[in-house]
Amino acid sequence: MAIGDELVGGFTLDTNSHWMAERLRLLGYPVKRVTQIRDKPDEIVDQIRLELDDTEITDVFVSGGLGPTPDDRTFAALAQALGKELVIWEDTRARIERRVQRMHSMGLLESPEVTEGNLRMARIPAGPAHVFKNRRGMAPGTVYEAHGKRIFVLPGVPLEMKGIFTEELEAQFLAGGAAATVRELRFTFAVEARFYPLMRELEVSFPDVSVGSYPNFETKELVIRCVGADPKRVEEALEVIRRRAPV
Ligand code: ATP
Ligand code: MG
Repeated sequence: MAIGDELVGGFTLDTNSHWMAERLRLLGYPVKRVTQIRDKPDEIVDQIRLELDDTEITDVFVSGGLGPTPDDRTFAALAQALGKELVIWEDTRARIERRVQRMHSMGLLESPEVTEGNLRMARIPAGPAHVFKNRRGMAPGTVYEAHGKRIFVLPGVPLEMKGIFTEELEAQFLAGGAAATVRELRFTFAVEARFYPLMRELEVSFPDVSVGSYPNFETKELVIRCVGADPKRVEEALEVIRRRAPV
């Protein structure tokens, strides 16, 4: 779930979701859906509730809207969705204070005082399961547990999000998953529609392998991609396509 008016408004490409979806797939946590939500508290609350009610998912990843400006509303919305109070998280406040002082001594900030805006970033819903450090910025990343699910909340700045994800979150929360097997076949100048009967058939005979067709209009190639948990089954499905491709 990527939060920000700039994403939904078409100003900024949502690279966070793309990056996380790939990373999570490789870690063995395939993503069910990706959403982009505006910086509107009610809409954020509604989407969080929807994710929490979905019995098919175990984890929710949220990015964006943790910053110092009034248009950053993710934590307030999350507090409402979880029925929690917003509290100042002391560790985060102290980190922000040290960071402000360091930036002041480097001449990057005029005042060594923590502003109201800075302090906003330390205000998070009470009772997090974990708070990440974020070596690259002030906004904290956090984890909550609710409805038997984990909710990961990460900053929107791509560098900060990736930093927390790879340096802190993966090892602590996403170890032990097994990535699905991905195999592809490429056909040049193939007519996608002619693959329809074969793909329908594979849906029935290989319900455990998802088969997708992705035409690339620049290279004139048609990519048929098979994804599944069992490498042997993926290979078998691929073999059927290789043998019977209508080209
Ligand atoms: P911080 O407190 O560190 O600023 P934040 O959580 O408040 O983080 P935002 O204010 O939402 O982050 O966004 C910060 C920057 O990151 C903006 O330039 C925004 O466009 C960019 N950004 C936010 N979300 C995404 C995303 N999903 N993909 C790519 N860039 C994003
Ligand atoms: Mg924002």
